[in-house]
Amino acid sequence: MKKITIAIDGYSSCGKSTMAKDLAREIGYIYIDSGAMYRAVTLYCLENGLFTPEGIDTNRLEAELPNIRISFQLNPSTLRPMTYLNGENVEDRIRSMEVSSHVSPVAALPFVREALVKQQQEMGKAKGIVMDGRDIGTVVFPDAELKIFVTASAEIRAQRRYDELKAKGQEASFEEILRNVKERDYIDQNRPVSPLRQAEDAILLDNSHLTIEEQKQWLKERFEEAAKE
Ligand code: C5P
Repeated sequence: MKKITIAIDGYSSCGKSTMAKDLAREIGYIYIDSGAMYRAVTLYCLENGLFTPEGIDTNRLEAELPNIRISFQLNPSTLRPMTYLNGENVEDRIRSMEVSSHVSPVAALPFVREALVKQQQEMGKAKGIVMDGRDIGTVVFPDAELKIFVTASAEIRAQRRYDELKAKGQEASFEEILRNVKERDYIDQNRPVSPLRQAEDAILLDNSHLTIEEQKQWLKERFEEAAKE
């Protein structure tokens, strides 16, 4: 089997990360959640007063971006990656509703995308990587050997996010989550720089009615086909 690059893109909360993480663990590839990187920058903005009544303070963000260091470390007990922002574990904080409702405008800023895409390409230089996001197959790794584009209905995605937050004991309103999912879809698809779209050579997966186990199996088969010598 050859070592390949796997790009998994799709809408918010469609289960991309779960399937990407599980596959990476099973086949011994590195897994990178690119959304976590945009979320970490957003958390930094929220915690450092960069959201002002007039909008994001882009001058300050651009000046401070080189000092925002994002990294990943495996949790030794779950073997799942955790996101670090300037050396601090922010894995739970970046998943809050507050971050979810501020992330898309931050991710639409061209200088933010340029900086994060460069880091993502660096991480994938040696192949053997599974990365998920919105522009991985179109912009970050246009030559990826396997590209998947995942979708599911907005209601099903909101329900999954709701269940996830509840399971972590976080406050959540289904209506608010559904609104957020739809709003992020809209901003992600309509931004001028790297809008969310299916790459021409990506395989479409609508997982609305698949179990996690079924989609895992489906992805494993796609991987085996793509990595065949
Ligand atoms: O994947 P996740 O929902 O955690 O991503 C959070 C947000 O980050 C998305 O709604 C999108 O605005 C942005 N994002 C992006 N490009 C990526 C990954 C995420 O614009 N490659």
